[in-house]
Amino acid sequence: MSDEQQFTISTFYNFVNEKRLMAAKCSACGNVILPPKPMCTQCLSTDLNWIELECSGKLVSYTVIHVAPEQFQSLAPYIVGIVEFKNGLRLPGMINDVHFEDVKIGMDLKLCFGTSTSSQWPSWSRYFFRPV
Ligand SMILES: [Zn+2]
Repeated sequence: MSDEQQFTISTFYNFVNEKRLMAAKCSACGNVILPPKPMCTQCLSTDLNWIELECSGKLVSYTVIHVAPEQFQSLAPYIVGIVEFKNGLRLPGMINDVHFEDVKIGMDLKLCFGTSTSSQWPSWSRYFFRPV
């Protein structure tokens, strides 16, 4: 298996750089793992494949961050939400381009891609959500 196929956060972000949202799917039990891990979180199989996800979903919960980790302090206050995609997968991310008072549970959001060289998880500037 080549480096670019490994089921790691690093590979996940390589795909994000190509503007693709990818998850690992277990060939044994069908579980989809996001963010990807090298082993299925349900059956521990390592027989995984990459699948590409649609980039639109709905907001299921959110919070406004006033006191941020050091690397995000310049962005505070900002909104971090959990977005659920059609297939039930959930991904945390920063929500941009919306006023705090306009954020609503269930609103449609679209995943957008930014730029960052950070390889830490989560790297909010690698991708973010904005209202559709
Ligand atoms: Zn599995």
